Amino acid sequence: MKIGVPKEIAEGETRVALIPSMIGPLLKMNHEVLVESGAGLNSGHDDAAYTQAGAQVVDAAAVYAGADALLKVQPLTEHPLLKKHEAELLKDDAYLITFLSPTTHKEGVRALLGKKVTAFDMGFVPRITRAQSMDALSSMATLSGYKAVLMSANYLGKIFPLMMTAAGTISASQVLVLGAGVAGLQAIATAKRLGARVEAFDPRPVVKEQVESLGGRFVEMEMPEDAETEGGYAKEMDEAFLKKEQEAIASRLKKTDVVITTAQVFGKAAPILITEEMIKMMPAGSVIIDIAAEQGGNTALTEKNKLVEKHGVKIYGAVNLPALLPVHASQMYSKNITTLFRHLFKEEEMDWEDEITSGACVIREGKLVNSLVEKILNA
Ligand code: NAD
Repeated sequence: MKIGVPKEIAEGETRVALIPSMIGPLLKMNHEVLVESGAGLNSGHDDAAYTQAGAQVVDAAAVYAGADALLKVQPLTEHPLLKKHEAELLKDDAYLITFLSPTTHKEGVRALLGKKVTAFDMGFVPRITRAQSMDALSSMATLSGYKAVLMSANYLGKIFPLMMTAAGTISASQVLVLGAGVAGLQAIATAKRLGARVEAFDPRPVVKEQVESLGGRFVEMEMPEDAETEGGYAKEMDEAFLKKEQEAIASRLKKTDVVITTAQVFGKAAPILITEEMIKMMPAGSVIIDIAAEQGGNTALTEKNKLVEKHGVKIYGAVNLPALLPVHASQMYSKNITTLFRHLFKEEEMDWEDEITSGACVIREGKLVNSLVEKILNA
């Protein structure tokens, strides 16, 4: 097969789906790799590095027209140079692997349905042990959690650690992390490493121990009975629980300098955990970094991709934090997508009985095969 790697066209995207060191394993499987000129520049890989690794460096049109399998990072959209939708540019029966992000990019999925394309979504790779090295959601969430804390430290007019100096003692900043999944846990670890005092909350009971093992304090409240799906994701909490949760959070906000919010429910809008009234309780100069901004945000005042200041509090609606770390984000994503690719194409015939193959597939030969995506598109 010819594997195509285009330069990402989404605004602000700096990652590339495949870095040069991942090309060798694909050539060993007897595939060819076509890379668009300049695709890796933002992540530190020039055309010469790709050529040296054995790829053919070509222009954008040649990547889309030549690829039997296209590897990307972002959902499909109109191509600004080629003046056509990327779905249109693809070969009729091509394979596609990327983040399709159906909740926020319905049109990109719909555009594929008129063809015989088979599309796999990195966001639907099952979160099972066997698929850990393909789990790009986790890789990217880890980087987001880390970067969110660094950004908050920059926006805050205080330092994170306790400092005893000749000019007096400075007490440690207080950080609250809401949602302690992959991003939240990395945020806790990063804030602890910077010397902050850290509290965290998540409705999944298993998380308490993980928070404590990182040195964070778990915010105690009455936990829901049935908080987790079989896949380990949080279920959508009801209004009554969210109200109690908001009260528990509110009781801390007066003394909180930084809030990192990461709470998400798979396939749904993010829950509002911090209302405008709650923001008013926070000390002047405090900071909220909302990693759930793309899904609507965890605060009532979050604006996607913007830093706003409301009631003396800086609120940043973070979208695509991994793109601010293009080198490691591309390295990790590249490893994840290559491992998935090798898994999918290890035999001549694709094994549709396999949980990873069928779980990650959203469109099979032009037909929508994922019921959640179907629901999202029809909503
Ligand atoms: P996510 O991005 O979907 O959500 C982030 C966090 O928000 C989750 O921890 C969730 O519980 C939390 N949340 C939801 N509603 C909330 C609310 N009302 N208040 C506060 N927090 C709320 O989740 P994620 O980080 O992608 O992963 C979630 C879990 O999936 C992991 O912790 C793990 O159990 C499982 N997982 C398993 C594997 C694996 O086995 N390979 C890999 C990754 C993740």
